[in-house]
Amino acid sequence: MLKNSFNNKKKERISDYFACNTFSEEVMREKLSKSTHNSLLSCIEGDKTLTLEIANEVAHAMKEWAIEKGATHYAHWFQPLTGATAEKHDYFLERAGKAHIERFSGKQLVRQEHDASSFPSGGLRVTFEARGYTSWDLTSPAFIIEDGSGCTLCIPSVFVSYNGESLDQKAPLMRSVDALESSVKKMLIDIFDEPEQKVFSFVGAEQEYFLIDKQYALKRPDVLLSGRTVFGAKPPKGQEMDDQYFGTIKERVLVYMRDVEQELYKLGIPCKTRHNEVAPHQYEFAPIFEEANIAQDHNQLMMEIMKKKANENGFYLLLHEKPFDRINGSGKHINWSMNTEKYNLLEPGDEPENNVRFLTFLLSVIRGVHKYSGILRASVATASNDHRLGGNEAPPAIISVYLGSFLTALLKDIKDSNLEKTKNKKNSKTRFKDIGRLNLSETLSNIADNTDRNRTSPFAFTGNKFEFRAVGSSQSLAIPVTVINTIVAESLDHIYAKMKKAIKNAGNKDMSVLMGVIKEVIEEVSPVIFEGDNYSKEGKTEAKKRGLLNLESTPEALSFYNDKNTEKLFEKYNVVSKDGLHARGEVEFENYCKSINIEAKCQLDIARTMIFPAALEYQKLLLNNHFELKRQFNDKKIYNEIEKETKVLSITINEFMKDIDRLEKELEKTNKEKDNIKKANLFRKKILPLMQKLRDNGDFIETKVPNKYWELPKYHEMLFIE
Ligand code: ADP
Ligand code: MG
Repeated sequence: MLKNSFNNKKKERISDYFACNTFSEEVMREKLSKSTHNSLLSCIEGDKTLTLEIANEVAHAMKEWAIEKGATHYAHWFQPLTGATAEKHDYFLERAGKAHIERFSGKQLVRQEHDASSFPSGGLRVTFEARGYTSWDLTSPAFIIEDGSGCTLCIPSVFVSYNGESLDQKAPLMRSVDALESSVKKMLIDIFDEPEQKVFSFVGAEQEYFLIDKQYALKRPDVLLSGRTVFGAKPPKGQEMDDQYFGTIKERVLVYMRDVEQELYKLGIPCKTRHNEVAPHQYEFAPIFEEANIAQDHNQLMMEIMKKKANENGFYLLLHEKPFDRINGSGKHINWSMNTEKYNLLEPGDEPENNVRFLTFLLSVIRGVHKYSGILRASVATASNDHRLGGNEAPPAIISVYLGSFLTALLKDIKDSNLEKTKNKKNSKTRFKDIGRLNLSETLSNIADNTDRNRTSPFAFTGNKFEFRAVGSSQSLAIPVTVINTIVAESLDHIYAKMKKAIKNAGNKDMSVLMGVIKEVIEEVSPVIFEGDNYSKEGKTEAKKRGLLNLESTPEALSFYNDKNTEKLFEKYNVVSKDGLHARGEVEFENYCKSINIEAKCQLDIARTMIFPAALEYQKLLLNNHFELKRQFNDKKIYNEIEKETKVLSITINEFMKDIDRLEKELEKTNKEKDNIKKANLFRKKILPLMQKLRDNGDFIETKVPNKYWELPKYHEMLFIE
């Protein structure tokens, strides 16, 4: 019986309960006095500073609302540098004279104190200054998380050390949004004579994931502890039939998806799309885009809910970038745009060739990506994403920009002062021929995009937004979005300065004057615009010719956390201090080492306690068999093949034992290294190849040993059970 039998369920519209578990605008209006409500809105807009008086009233209303909903506890919900979220629950209970009553003060809403010493800080917080504080982020709505028997009020918060250094992913993201806003405003007001408007960085993150049956995950220590399989032979069928992508969703998976969506809707997370992905048992959820800070909180929440609901539905969720060898991995495509209240600044309109504002904003992104490709690559660098980038399934480690043939030609024509060519190319929307009574030339031409898709590009313009495809499925989107916002802010200022100078020299702001600057910028950025196949060898050669960076592994990419240009960039825009940046790099180096260390230890454990004993069982069977055949028949024709099989297996077992020994010794040596950068390089150069060798032999043994001796669930079981 499926859990949610449709006919027995009350049918509700999603809009009836959407955001019912959030302290939404509607709830605020109902629960707060008019003046406090208005003051709070002004604080959220950034026009007013929060006072304790306002906080007190909001806290009281929030508590009343949460208790009505069944909440007993509250928690500041924050995002330390672990990449996950953290929360410490406190009961609303307080002593009042001799009695105990439920109370929640403005002070408690605004700040909570923690012992921060067990959170990563990259050396920013010395142990004797263990204190850390979380502080309410009033721009993201508080929400209620339901569990089996009650619920908790969660207050989105930023996390800072005793000295005021930020220790989380949110604060830099929020600062980068401010940086972008002020650079966009300056450009719009001063150069394009537009009125002052609020500016937003919008983000829509497509979340890919795998589901496997929980019963299998429980039998795989590697999956449970490291999120990926460190052994597993290739199954007879992989993804070669292309029958999974957008295929009919299996019913029990659909039940899971609905379960997740229902929970997301209650939290006001606008999940819109669900589908099968390329690999077997791989899927995707995509919400409607939101302001960056909200999109970040919602993506973190979404990952948690996906995990929780998987467990309830008998599945195990894999967010790892490459859970299975030789099977496509998962990403988190980040769709990004910058907008005012009224329009999208990346909207080309009908005449992009005459739309200087569009060209300016488009080029600011391209220039940012070109100039700061190192830190952009570093923002998606993790041990797990290294398995995916460049693996003929995801973009390479080289960062280039895809614009589609139309815009690429347009920029070239502007550069060559040959705009007539572009005009002739336009209006050639005759791609679609009618099919029978289907009037495709009419219905499709009007909506046809001017940009095609290029799945091989890491950073593609898709109509009116950019899509950063190199982001890993398990990572927090805050880091890459912080980088994008900041590099675009800096590029806008760069173009702004050039335009100001040109205007001063010309004595006017005519289109031709601004176009002169556009031309110069096109010249500057053209090496990063790449239309070809990024997976191909030619793509790599071409990138080298153009001087684009190819940071193949995480340690190489992370070095950009210590780069002078990155330091200057983040300090100038007040996003992260130099020390903060170095500390974050340090945390990333540490995470890289720890992840591989865990994987290697899982591998050793499985090798010794599961694969090796199974191999010996089979070897024993073969040896007995061989011995008996020889004794009974003494005829090589009868036992020759068995003898060969026994030899091959025995040689592999012997090699496998040596591999175990080598990996164990090297791991011990590597873990003695104190310097994280050196250590990360040892993990990459010494440990990873040894792990691969051990895996190859282990996977070979898997293809030999009878199923009945093989405890570890196999790829075909995990990936193909309906
Ligand atoms: P796909 O690339 O898979 O076809 P869509 O075009 O539907 O997907 O969009 C993918 C994501 O991009 C969604 O989360 C969507 O909300 C988001 N998105 C759409 N427009 C914008 C925009 N202007 N800014 C940011 N994100 C956007
Ligand atoms: Mg997409």
